[in-house]
Amino acid sequence: MKLAAICEFLESLAPTATAEDWDNVGLLVGQPDADVTRVMTCLTVTPASAAEAIARGADLIVTHHPMPFRPLKRITTADTVGRLLWELIGNRIAIYSAHTAWDSAVTGINQQLAESYGLTEIQPLLPSSDATLSPGSGRWGQLAAPMTLEWVLSITRNFANMERLQYVGDPQRVVSRIGVACGSASSFAEPARRVGCDVLITGEASFHACLECEASGIALVLPGHYASERFAMESLAERLSQGLSGVDTWASEREADPLRWF
Ligand SMILES: [Zn+2]
Repeated sequence: MKLAAICEFLESLAPTATAEDWDNVGLLVGQPDADVTRVMTCLTVTPASAAEAIARGADLIVTHHPMPFRPLKRITTADTVGRLLWELIGNRIAIYSAHTAWDSAVTGINQQLAESYGLTEIQPLLPSSDATLSPGSGRWGQLAAPMTLEWVLSITRNFANMERLQYVGDPQRVVSRIGVACGSASSFAEPARRVGCDVLITGEASFHACLECEASGIALVLPGHYASERFAMESLAERLSQGLSGVDTWASEREADPLRWF
């Protein structure tokens, strides 16, 4: 398939016009009329995921986090971004990112996260101004029956396949309305509190954001940035396999969370 046709398919899943203003999305590296037969999805282009893409003959990386993200004045091997771009371009590997457009998309990361808790009446935390393109960012919804925060913690731990996770709040607190915002999104705590959420699930939050949530009375569940988003790279790879004929797609097997527990 031509790269341009794959970009069109990705655009239909996550319209790039719905990305946040500061974001850098769409086709970031590549030649639209190139032929693509092998596609790897990953959360981030790292030395490990780039090496895997090269070793397994990928023609395209669909990365959640954009690469490049900030404007570049040079591409040399003197820094990590330059070195990875140099290697990928040298191997004729294109790079596409949907990032915040995929976070917010109708079937994107936050919708998938909300559904994993069995929420009903799922709505965006920040509705978009043009609902024909995207519902908006973050999600909130209602549990079928009130549960404890401890229950939310155990569901999150199972979903993220982790032994431990951080949280703010009383584990015995009863919760019925849940907000979700993948990645580093504690800024959604206030909109979540305003619509009556008892808890916000996001990847990570700063110490001061945690204190603010504790003071304002909304619980936080923090499985980590990686765990809050990486699962959606597997589901994206499946969607690409189903939607694109003659293209082999897989989610990176070598990338991993850089944070470890001791
Ligand atoms: Zn992220």
